[in-house]
Amino acid sequence: MPSILRLPIWFSHHPGLLILAITLLAASIATLLVLIDRILVAVGMARRFWRTAAALTVGLGVWSALYIGLLSMRLPLPFSLNLSYQLGALALAVLAVYCGVMALDLIHTRPWVRGMIFLLTGLAAVATHWLMFSSVEMPANIRYRAVSFSTWLVLVAGATIAGLWLLDRRLRLRRDLAPTMRILFSVAMGSAGIALQQAGMGIAELVPTPARPVSVIDQGYMAAIPVGLTVFGILGLAAITVSNERRIEVFITSLTDRSPDALFVFSRTHILTYVNPIAERLVGQTKAALVGRPVWEAVPEALSAILREPAERSATENDLACFEFCYPVSGAWYEVYVQPWPDSVAVVLKDVSVRKSLEEQVRHQSLHDPLTGLANRTLFRDRVEQAVLDPSRREFAVLFIDLDDFKLINDSYGHQVGDEVLSTLGARLLDCVRTGDTVSRLGGDEFAIMLRSVSLAEATEVAERIIEAFGEPVRAGGRDVTVSPSIGIAMGEADRADNADELLSNADMAMYDAKARGKAQVRIYDPEMYRAVRSRLDLSTELRRAVQAGEMVLHYQPVVALDTGHVLYLEALVRWDHPERGVIPPSEFIPLAEETGLIVPIGKWVVNEACRQTRLWQKEFPTAATLAVGVNLSAGELEEPALAATVKGALAASGLAPAHLVLEVTESSLLGHTTTVLHHLESLRSHGVSLAIDDFGTGYSSLAYLRRFPFSIIKLDKTFVAESTASDRDKALLGGVLDLARGLNVEVVAEGVERHDQARMLQELGCPFGQGYCFTRPLPPGPMADLLRKGMRTVT
Ligand code: C2E
Ligand code: MG
Ligand code: MG
Repeated sequence: MPSILRLPIWFSHHPGLLILAITLLAASIATLLVLIDRILVAVGMARRFWRTAAALTVGLGVWSALYIGLLSMRLPLPFSLNLSYQLGALALAVLAVYCGVMALDLIHTRPWVRGMIFLLTGLAAVATHWLMFSSVEMPANIRYRAVSFSTWLVLVAGATIAGLWLLDRRLRLRRDLAPTMRILFSVAMGSAGIALQQAGMGIAELVPTPARPVSVIDQGYMAAIPVGLTVFGILGLAAITVSNERRIEVFITSLTDRSPDALFVFSRTHILTYVNPIAERLVGQTKAALVGRPVWEAVPEALSAILREPAERSATENDLACFEFCYPVSGAWYEVYVQPWPDSVAVVLKDVSVRKSLEEQVRHQSLHDPLTGLANRTLFRDRVEQAVLDPSRREFAVLFIDLDDFKLINDSYGHQVGDEVLSTLGARLLDCVRTGDTVSRLGGDEFAIMLRSVSLAEATEVAERIIEAFGEPVRAGGRDVTVSPSIGIAMGEADRADNADELLSNADMAMYDAKARGKAQVRIYDPEMYRAVRSRLDLSTELRRAVQAGEMVLHYQPVVALDTGHVLYLEALVRWDHPERGVIPPSEFIPLAEETGLIVPIGKWVVNEACRQTRLWQKEFPTAATLAVGVNLSAGELEEPALAATVKGALAASGLAPAHLVLEVTESSLLGHTTTVLHHLESLRSHGVSLAIDDFGTGYSSLAYLRRFPFSIIKLDKTFVAESTASDRDKALLGGVLDLARGLNVEVVAEGVERHDQARMLQELGCPFGQGYCFTRPLPPGPMADLLRKGMRTVT
């Protein structure tokens, strides 16, 4: 009856081999830790390769540790190890490690699947141990008691799963294990593994069966040392290779981690393998939560909707793709680069919001007026052009708006007030239109509006609304300023093929017409306006030529004393002696000359000619020795810096005494030009020239001018004279002006005296001088000379 051999729980060992076994298992686990790091950053094929490499090297390490652990035992009977079982144990160790790696790698797989893999790993560990024991051949049967054996089984599986669970937690929390923690963990797991193996043998019962032959092979150091060293070498090599590679990777990762751009890397099978901190922030999830998941599921819907199609296209075509997009969640702009690699795709999102907003600012500035913030001419033209080309062919309107006499505001209150007025009025224009309409400032005091889909009636209504809105005074620079607009409307229809410039110029012409008709009104373009403008244009070209060709002539009309009929002075009135059209009156070309600036050369010629002619008559006719001449000056001339010099030059050239020259200035031309004009007039006055205020009573602040400017003659406007014969009220008014003139010691001339009764009435009221058809019409120099020859006397 064979006796049962029970090993004491602490049976004896070869201490060296035991330590070697523990060291080998610890080294295997340390290598596994290094390889796991590598596996987690590998993609596609590389990942599979590293999983297999880990299973093979670490599996070999685990097997060798258990093998040497067996050899370290000093059993009461001799034993050998069966080669086939050992190979089986090796295979199972490899399988166990492979399962362990998978369990750690498949972070995002469903929990129960992972649980199964964890369990499988534990079972594979148990099976490895079991095969190890089964390989022991000795002259005895090895038996176990059910309770202690199942406890041992649970312990082996439990320790394996617990180790994995600890590692898994570390990976989930994204904490890199410190080197000491790695060593501690590896040594603890290594010791636990070998201790469990030894315990497994400790609980065995050996039933000696001497019949069984045992081929005792060399146990102990001779077998263990070469295996141990070889496996160490393999583990070391694997760990060093991977660590080196990992170092470079850590370096690169630290760079990409610090990159200001968001970086996503995913496999060709669309599994996210890397995201940097900026990408984490963009998506609002941690790297741990993202990596390992299908990319289009992991990133927010808004992002995948934009990135998916181009990323997949560039990945399949292997092309670098680059495009921009606005992320609707944050409103930020990104420049996206999709870079395909052999086994993965990198998507870089560069935040270009600042550049975009600067670009937008520049674009806005280039298309908008800085003062009012309204569209500028370029943008306006563009909008009109779009409306012209609009395939829906709807009617639209272009309104051209010019502020009436805006120059006066700038000149009298300064440009700052002017600017304030412009920006307030710009805002009012916006209030007058609908959202789809375009309001623009073309420059200066010119605005334009494009109204979409409107009829002429509706456009006119908007224009009237604008006039009404402008009626409200603008508070600027501490004062209330009112400016009226003149508005021209041109209607555009897409099928009429008008271009933007043509429409704008039509609206401009209509606006011009509104100005000509007394300002503050709305005019609608009609082709007649174009013809008028055309003829004005022709006229201005011709006028320029006429001035050079000497077609200007002067007619003279005397200003006479109502009591004696003596001449105070002759007023020189210019005419255009047109070769085909005959004599053209000044009313037909002076306004044009004023606008085009031609008034300056014309005026210069007039003053020279008038002085020359008068001086000639003075010398020719004894009764006209003190003859004086009156010359009209326009607003444009008054502002001309050379005016005083021109007048003095004309006097000097002709030899006419300054006292024999009267300069007539209309009230309206004094409006708004105080300082320069005042300076000119004072300079001429002190030179001895007389100044007359012309058309007195038609302007607005005649009395104020009388005080401010050195006038010595008032010429009452002809309307004044015509009306004063009619009513007593007008007579009274006339009488008042005459009293005032006497008070100021100023001579009064009544203009437009056409009939003798008017002359008589004026004389009764005490008006000393008159001018009009009743005495003489303006005469050319020849007939005028005849009158002088007949003895027309001058006032002395
Ligand atoms: P003004 O200076 O008020 O000249 C008087 C205008 O009244 C002249 O018209 C004259 O022909 C007209 N007139 C004279 N007597 C009568 C009358 O009894 N009844 C009526 N209804 N009209 C009368 P004209 O020559 O056509 O000149 C018109 C305006 O053109 C002038 O008004 C003056 O402002 C301007 N003008 C004329 N010559 C020149 C010039 O050489 N330079 C400038 N800058 N303006 C000029
Ligand atoms: Mg005059
Ligand atoms: Mg006049």
